[in-house]
Amino acid sequence: MSDLKASLPLNLENGQSQPARDPKIMGKAGFYLPILLKSATVVESLRRLPKDGVDFMICFELGLERTATPRRDDRMNGMLRILLLCGILFQADTWGAIPREEGEFRKPELVELIRLDPTIRLDVRYATTNNFAHRAVYREARAFLQRPAAEALVRVHRALARQGLGLMVFDGYRPWSVVKLFWDITAEKDKKFVADPRRGSTHSRGCAVDLTLYDVKTGKPVEMPGGYDEWSERSAIDYSGGTPEARRHRELLCSAMEVEGFIHAPAEWWHYTYRDWELYRNMNLDFSEIKLPAPARPAD
Ligand SMILES: [Zn+2]
Repeated sequence: MSDLKASLPLNLENGQSQPARDPKIMGKAGFYLPILLKSATVVESLRRLPKDGVDFMICFELGLERTATPRRDDRMNGMLRILLLCGILFQADTWGAIPREEGEFRKPELVELIRLDPTIRLDVRYATTNNFAHRAVYREARAFLQRPAAEALVRVHRALARQGLGLMVFDGYRPWSVVKLFWDITAEKDKKFVADPRRGSTHSRGCAVDLTLYDVKTGKPVEMPGGYDEWSERSAIDYSGGTPEARRHRELLCSAMEVEGFIHAPAEWWHYTYRDWELYRNMNLDFSEIKLPAPARPAD
């Protein structure tokens, strides 16, 4: 096995030659899975599934260790193992791959919201353990959208300022592997609250945003009829309970967002999709891999 690793010194995650980023996990899988599959999505998916993923990769490693050095008198057995392993890998590729999407799509241009307007507040719970998954799924508390959606959001934020309110963003672009993770850890009865990774997500296209309003005077979020990511009837956009003030805030957010081309979600008061979402592909870039435009240089 060590010879095999030595002869394949690069990790091909995301189809690029680069050093393994997480030695605990990538050291096991990153060296050879893409070589066999010519697919990096499996590695990325497994990397995002800490517990189950590691178990799965240990199986791969054992299988490869045996098949890579078959004894002379055991060639048939070795061949069968290779075929079996290829079958498992094919299954894994189907199970863990970003959806293939045909047709014409816009070139993605993710922009960071606070670079367009630093007064947009962030509360990126997925970068903390304070979320429904009880684990940090982002390494950085950042929020991105495709440029037209981001610019529309800034217009919403500035319009609300006239009423002493602003936007507080929980989440924007979400890598597809995180969508897959959310699907896998969610019980069947709650799956209506998460996107099916086989179809992808408007978040993965960089065209959905989860957000609330904050009071400019206090900097604190305003009262809403239910909590963010609360999987209950209180999350419905037409939930009639809660205080009149909370319902007024929810309706204010909804009308301000719709003016700029965002569409509300029936089951989640905090989720809005930008109207052009179908023009963008699902993406699986980590936040650190997003190329942002260089700051404009002052004129000479
Ligand atoms: Zn959402």
